[in-house]
This record gives sequence, C-alpha cells and structure tokens, in this order.
Amino acid sequence: MYVKSRPKLGIVLFLSAGLFMLFLGFIFLVLPDYYSVLNEYGMMHSIIINFVSGFILVMSSYVVYHHPEKRRICAVVVLGFSMAEVLSGAIGGAYHFTPYIRDVGVVNIFAGIIGVFGGAFSIMWKQPSTRTIKTQDRCPNCGAILREKARFCPNCGTSLSETAIYT
Ligand SMILES: [Zn+2]
Repeated sequence: MYVKSRPKLGIVLFLSAGLFMLFLGFIFLVLPDYYSVLNEYGMMHSIIINFVSGFILVMSSYVVYHHPEKRRICAVVVLGFSMAEVLSGAIGGAYHFTPYIRDVGVVNIFAGIIGVFGGAFSIMWKQPSTRTIKTQDRCPNCGAILREKARFCPNCGTSLSETAIYT
C-alpha cells in the first residue's frame, strides 16, 4: 500500500492547539466563575474565538492528514486564527488587571503559539523525494559498485578521474 508522507509534527500541533482551544472555550463557557468574570469585562469574544479557532485548527489537521498537498493553504489559515488567538490573549490579558483575566490571556497566548508553530512547520515541510534508491555508478573496467566521487575503483584499482565525473 502506498503511504502518503505528511507533515506529522504540523498535524499533531494543529490538533493539539485546536483541541486545547476548544477545551478553553468549553471551560470558559461552563465554569460560572470564569463566565461571570469574562462577561463582566466583556470578554465573551474569548469564548467565541476559542471555539471558532479550535474548530478551524482541528479541521485543518484533518484536511492536512488526508490531503498533505493542501498543507500550505491550511497552514496560512491556521496561522491567521492562531495569531488571532495570541492577540486576543495578549490584548484581553494585558488590558485587564484582574488575575483571572490575565491567566486566561496567558493560556490563550500559549494555545495560539502552539498553532503558530504548527503552521510554520507545515509551511516549511517538504514532501520527501520519491527517489529512494540511488542509481549506483559502476567501474567501467570491472563493473564493481563505486562510492560517490571515488577516484579509484576499490576492486581493480582503475583510475576513474578521467573516465567519469561522478556528481
Ligand atoms: Zn574496477
């Protein structure tokens, strides 16, 4: 069976960051303490951003897993939402002086940074070459297999410097 190569680290980071964001959104939504504090300071957008970004990142990990060729477009989308997550954490956390809110900001920033790393990794990842077996050069005299850039045949000692240039 032909196995597709994928940016595994990128997929894992997308999924981790996405689930982390969904988890944060859920926590902020169900914990009355957080909810009231967030609501009090008008931070409902934090819940929305976490749910939306989390959903997008989880979907992206799924898409890249099944369609590695779409990794770049997915990475760009992930980078956008992850940066929104970092920004919302930074702005929300820095703006408010309540320790609660600052903690929320720091966790949001952390989740966003995981996504940013995943996006950066997925953009830089290259499909490995499908050429796995290198055609080996052989000695023109005896046919022995030669190392790359060998100057003499290890079998018969024929000088190879003039007969061929091995690159
Ligand atoms: Zn030889």
